[in-house]
Amino acid sequence: MSKLSVRDLDIKGKRVLVRVDFNVPQDAALNVTDDTRIKEALVTIKYVIENGGKAILISHLGRPDGKVVEKMRMAPVAKKLQELLSKPVLTANDCIGEEVKKIVESMKDGDVLLLENVRFHAEEEENDPAFSKQLAELCDVYVNDAFGTAHRAHASTEGVAKFVKQAAAGFLIEKEIKFLGMILENPARPILAIIGGAKISSKIDLLNNLINKVNNLIVGGGMAYTFMKAQGKGIGKSLLEADKVEIAKEILNKAKSRGVNIYLPMDHIVASRKDNAQDIECVNEIPENMIAFDIGPKSITEFQKVVKESKTIFWNGPLGLFEVNAFAAGTIAIAKAIANSGNVSVVGGGDSVSAIKKAGVTDKMTHISTGGGASLEFIEGKELPGIAALTNK
Ligand code: ADP
Ligand code: MG
Repeated sequence: MSKLSVRDLDIKGKRVLVRVDFNVPQDAALNVTDDTRIKEALVTIKYVIENGGKAILISHLGRPDGKVVEKMRMAPVAKKLQELLSKPVLTANDCIGEEVKKIVESMKDGDVLLLENVRFHAEEEENDPAFSKQLAELCDVYVNDAFGTAHRAHASTEGVAKFVKQAAAGFLIEKEIKFLGMILENPARPILAIIGGAKISSKIDLLNNLINKVNNLIVGGGMAYTFMKAQGKGIGKSLLEADKVEIAKEILNKAKSRGVNIYLPMDHIVASRKDNAQDIECVNEIPENMIAFDIGPKSITEFQKVVKESKTIFWNGPLGLFEVNAFAAGTIAIAKAIANSGNVSVVGGGDSVSAIKKAGVTDKMTHISTGGGASLEFIEGKELPGIAALTNK
């Protein structure tokens, strides 16, 4: 990686501001219901305190839109973090200002402080330089470990880096860049991308960049039908983005001219409605009045073969309406095929991660990205502001 890593920093006795992603789900009593994101940040936090630094943590929680919202305070998160670290975690009523400076001054080496929700200030999302400077004043060095917000140029993710001597990547960001980077740079070939999900419109940039990188491309899920329409095939009442047919044609042509093997479903599980189990059938040609909700068994067999033959696999987007059990078979079969192939597998996307959980193969993937939007922008070839702003090595 071309950017400084937390490993490169001299941390002993230093005030280390760490941008973490503690945007966790909570129940009505504000208890943290899923602590995955907190657990993932522990590696960097422990590294800072075990090396004698003062860990000053900052995160957003929810969407308070620039004002104090009582139920979006960080206190319940601090409580959870305290449990996970088995040590006290200091808290503050704000993330900038004199009060906070005093708390920071009182910190001893190895102490942990969780600042108040940074989005209580509108200046955070506005990436206000004066606000960034105030954040920077709290620390000697800055570490960004919030991959999930690295695609946003906010004060605590991007602006602050301009006002500190050293801005480094935490372990989580480092891991994400390593594995997502493997897809874009020198992957073991052949490399396959499996792109599914509901809409082409959200994945055009992704497809266009991948076309330049991969040997094999499988398109499944709802977006496959706009591609089939572009090929002049009948799609019945399946999901169609009529205004994207031309773009689908362009992508197919580009794939052809670059020698990319493109695979679309060759058979389909159809029904008249997603909640009508009565008329589900498997077809090669989609009847006029039917909707395709999953790929059929012949497609599964073909896709499994491509998965097996590809040394590197990137997967984003379910291959069918997997939330409904009757239409989950295709997605689950391909998830299992990827897991059991022994090939390098990198998965990104919120629904794709749920699908992998449903298939029970989470532990068998090489890397599951924690950042939905950020991982897709990375694979689209876009620069992530929160990473670009870090100090070069
Ligand atoms: P991710 O979150 O992994 O990026 P998307 O959000 O792009 O994935 O797409 C996921 C959604 O696509 C799921 O809700 C799934 O039900 C839907 N989907 C997949 N295949 C179909 C289909 N054939 N018809 C309608 N919806 C589909
Ligand atoms: Mg999604």
